[in-house]
Amino acid sequence: MSDHAFATRAIHAGQDPDPLTGAIIPPIYQASTHVQDSVGELRQGYEYNRAGNPTRSALETQLAALEGGTAALSFSSGLAAEDALLRAILRPGDHVLLGNDVYGGTYRLLAKVFAPWGIEMTTVELGDADAVRAAIRPETKIVWLETPSNPLLKVVDIAKTAELAHAGGAILVVDNTFASPALQNPLAFGADLVVHSTTKYLGGHSDVLGGAVIFGDDRFYEQVKFQQFAVGAVSAALDGWLTTRGIKTLAVRMRQHSANAQAIAEWAEGRPEFETVFYPGLPSHPGHEIAAKQMSGFGGMLSLALVGGADAARRFVESTELFQLAESLGGVESLIGYPSEMTHASVKGTELAVPENVIRLSVGIEDIADLIADLEQALARIAG
Ligand SMILES: *Cc1c(COP(=O)(O)O)cnc(C)c1O
Repeated sequence: MSDHAFATRAIHAGQDPDPLTGAIIPPIYQASTHVQDSVGELRQGYEYNRAGNPTRSALETQLAALEGGTAALSFSSGLAAEDALLRAILRPGDHVLLGNDVYGGTYRLLAKVFAPWGIEMTTVELGDADAVRAAIRPETKIVWLETPSNPLLKVVDIAKTAELAHAGGAILVVDNTFASPALQNPLAFGADLVVHSTTKYLGGHSDVLGGAVIFGDDRFYEQVKFQQFAVGAVSAALDGWLTTRGIKTLAVRMRQHSANAQAIAEWAEGRPEFETVFYPGLPSHPGHEIAAKQMSGFGGMLSLALVGGADAARRFVESTELFQLAESLGGVESLIGYPSEMTHASVKGTELAVPENVIRLSVGIEDIADLIADLEQALARIAG
């Protein structure tokens, strides 16, 4: 599979027809255990669902192929994947360096769950090489990067950050949820591990929760696999199967998400109601050139700062109709959110707090004229 292009791999990797019946789609193996031919003699290595399930294996093969990794593990959520990865690698006294605008749940996991067990965490502006060098300590095991970031769409150079992390004796983990592997493959730029919330673009239809860790080589696979087996946050068979189905259309969906978001960004840039348009596909975006170097498209996420402050932002998110007010992102349907009180409420008052006039769009794949008309009617409504 590795010599095929992305769209082909997304459809065929791990997706051989069922050998028993020829069913073109690998079945949902809804079983908790597998019969053994004699004591310890397993059929194709399967024993008990927490240790392995054929539907999950099919998804893991597909996930590894998407990112160009050697292997992948599939979890019940993005945060469960992050938790297993962190527990596998870190010990008390270790330090993690986070980008200063990572996903709020990642920050909360480290600040509220890992810190009491003696894992230290600090944040830094990852685009500032001197600051990163100064922030890496002898105990730093992991540098954690998200690009583009949530919700301000900051872009950080993956290759440069990998060099800085490695020079300091740390590994680089990239949360690639926002870009999706259709647009960006961090392992190719020197990242050691990639994590995904497959709940978002990979699933793509807002009907499943899941997460993944993808490995650039075999250094960490056994440790993370052991955490998954010992703790049990595996993806269930039906959820894994839905994710597999979503992934097959990822390439074509991401093209449309990107085209729609670009059109909205260009429309918004010309409107007096917006103070700032945060979208890496705009030449005016400070990260545009780096994004163009490491991404093959600019994605479906876009944020807007409204001129009228918190009040205008709140009224705007409550005035759209096609853009539905909800957490999450990456589905075919467009969503609108108010980060400071929704997705980023948990980081209020910290250095990750989001300005109160910022709204976030997860641009779906509906007709672009309908989407822009919806935003225009919302602007008219809050002006009136
Ligand atoms: C949603 C999200 C997560 C967490 O994933 P869950 O599936 O909700 O646990 C992690 N990182 C990013 C960038 C996300 O958007």
